[in-house]
Amino acid sequence: MSNKYSIVFALVTGGSRGIGRAVALRLAQMGYRVVINYMSNDAEAEKTLALVREAGSDGELLKFDVSDVEASRLALEGWQKAHPDDYIEVLVNNAGIRKDNLLVWMEPEDFTRVLTTNLCSFYNVTRPLITPMIRHKYGRIINMASLSGLKGLPGQCNYSAAKGGLIAATKALAQEVGRKNITVNAVAPGFVKTDMVEGLDEAELKKTIPMNRFGEAEEIAGLVGFLASKEAGYITGECISINGGLYS
Ligand code: NAP
Repeated sequence: MSNKYSIVFALVTGGSRGIGRAVALRLAQMGYRVVINYMSNDAEAEKTLALVREAGSDGELLKFDVSDVEASRLALEGWQKAHPDDYIEVLVNNAGIRKDNLLVWMEPEDFTRVLTTNLCSFYNVTRPLITPMIRHKYGRIINMASLSGLKGLPGQCNYSAAKGGLIAATKALAQEVGRKNITVNAVAPGFVKTDMVEGLDEAELKKTIPMNRFGEAEEIAGLVGFLASKEAGYITGECISINGGLYS
């Protein structure tokens, strides 16, 4: 935390469920007020907010579609107007979807939707928040990538392309804003137990993982929390794998 402001805010996109919820809780435990973005699941978002409050912090819900540039801009400008003395100093670009299929059967809308939600969202959300970070000379940006973006996985040309692009954007932005004391890093999980991996054959897949299990959302949140901390101030432009030893 920069400690310059009485209230310090963190935004987690896709904070209503899964990894995003665990990250929101971790940041709450670190003392951040957590702005929880989500797309549609009001009940789960409310649950995350309640957990944030139980953790001793506070937060608010900010519902918008991160794949929509105008909706993202309006929501974030609205937040800033409502909080003229504050800024979001930690941004976790976590919201994501997958729509797997072999390329021969992949419909154009499934390619585009995965790209806009997982990659264009980086631009849509980071662009409105980067100027306040630059002005305050402090910021932490953490992008949720994937093993798929490093290695490429069959059935995921759309998702691998989006996450690979996100890793490249992480490295580019890190070089743009390093002088302003803003770090930009990516995290690349392997298989993590959330709604996203429902339907996958865990018993079979875990045989390919040296740790012989899927990861927990809290384990990803631990790494994100470290990258969001002051102690991680000399790490930037990195993509850190967290996958139980799967090849990356
Ligand atoms: P999840 O359980 O399916 O949760 C996805 C979250 O993203 C939900 O909060 C959802 O909101 C939100 N979301 C989806 N589309 C959105 C949009 N257009 N605008 C705003 N919010 C949106 O997924 P997860 O497993 O926690 O995944 C989180 C991130 O980790 C993703 O970027 C994913 O690609 C990445 N990842 C996951 C794994 C894994 O094994 N789970 C592995 C590698 C990387 P609603 O609740 O409103 O739908």
